[in-house]
Amino acid sequence: MLAVEEALRRILATVQPLHTETIGLHEALGRVLGVDVQASYDLPPFDNSSMDGFAVIATDVAGSSSSNPVTLHVIEDIPAGKAPHMTVRHGQAARIMTGAPMPAGADAVVPVEQTDQSRMSPEMPASIKVVQRVKQGDYVRPIGEDIKRGETVLEKGQVLRPADLGVLAGLGVSQVAVMARPKVAVISNGDELVLPHEPLTPGKIRDMNSYFLPALIAEAGGEPLLLGIARDTAESVREKLTLAVEQGANLILSSAGVSVGAFDVVKTVLDEMGSVEFWKVNLRPGKPLTFGQIQGICFLGLPGNPVSAMVTFDVFARPVIRKMLGLSVEMPTRMATMGEAMTSDGRMTFARVRLTRENGDLVAYSTGNQSSGVISSMVKADGLLIIPEGVREVKMGDRLAVRPFRFED
Ligand code: AMP
Ligand code: MG
Repeated sequence: MLAVEEALRRILATVQPLHTETIGLHEALGRVLGVDVQASYDLPPFDNSSMDGFAVIATDVAGSSSSNPVTLHVIEDIPAGKAPHMTVRHGQAARIMTGAPMPAGADAVVPVEQTDQSRMSPEMPASIKVVQRVKQGDYVRPIGEDIKRGETVLEKGQVLRPADLGVLAGLGVSQVAVMARPKVAVISNGDELVLPHEPLTPGKIRDMNSYFLPALIAEAGGEPLLLGIARDTAESVREKLTLAVEQGANLILSSAGVSVGAFDVVKTVLDEMGSVEFWKVNLRPGKPLTFGQIQGICFLGLPGNPVSAMVTFDVFARPVIRKMLGLSVEMPTRMATMGEAMTSDGRMTFARVRLTRENGDLVAYSTGNQSSGVISSMVKADGLLIIPEGVREVKMGDRLAVRPFRFED
């Protein structure tokens, strides 16, 4: 049977990074930057004061102290947001607020606390006494100190974080080119499926896959297209797949209807509308994974059991979305010590585990029933333990790789 790595390699070979689109900064959190960003301006854009105080010529006050204060005449008031008009000459000072531009002639700022004014009065004083010395450059934030014009501040492929949005705004960028979010069509298949708010008539179950798949897609950076439930007929499946193509899906994720049951029509319709590349992988849970294409669009037929669908999403669909976003497709893992023994059937197995920290070590315990139909053990899980292909038994104390759902430490 096809090994998981080989199956993933074949799937990924058919997809490419998508185009970029330009969006406003307020929409850009979590998006993947599509270009390198160079600063078009210096930051700060001009020399400015880092304190409320008086802009002076440092040599004028080089010898000042509380016992020997130097008196300076105040010639101008410079609040933040105003350009100074006067040039500071020897014996003079300009009153200046934090963030205001340094006036010509001055080369240092004396904080108000280091003058005879204990704090700023509403009126500009005619003169001040400086009671402490300052050196050239003191309390001045020079132009470009933070970022120099032309410098690369952010790189293509970065996932934008709050600070990144701040720096873009600071550099005068209000629109940013990001990778387009892959549109991922979600189709649930099955005559037994009803929606959560609908009554459970005999033989029916509620459609879970239409709820967690869009959540997984959004979390991975994709845009879910909810196409609802296809019934177990070729017409119904055909209709949904046609809709997916019409709506411009970059990836079609269908769940169920791909095993060997009498009413599993998905593969037949896929073959008719496009091509079936393979339909079994050596994975547990998730063996009946179907991969194909419809008009060049990647099609992944996930198994119907919710846990199988989640695991196959993680192993196959997430890397597809990430490649389309221009992100690395290597999923990070951690090494964990087995807190108890577990078994497998020799397929590559993704086991639901709880992770605890014990004496600085990450320790994995099974969350219980590992049947692919049991979602409660997934709900309790902190991650998926990877039991490699060919391994049937892991012992307490063995060290194995685990994919945590979250990296908290
Ligand atoms: P199938 O692949 O169609 O044989 O489905 C495998 C199992 O998954 C069956 O027990 C289905 O009832 C169940 N199943 C399929 N689709 C869903 C869904 N959307 N939500 C919950 N269970 C499902
Ligand atoms: Mg079915």
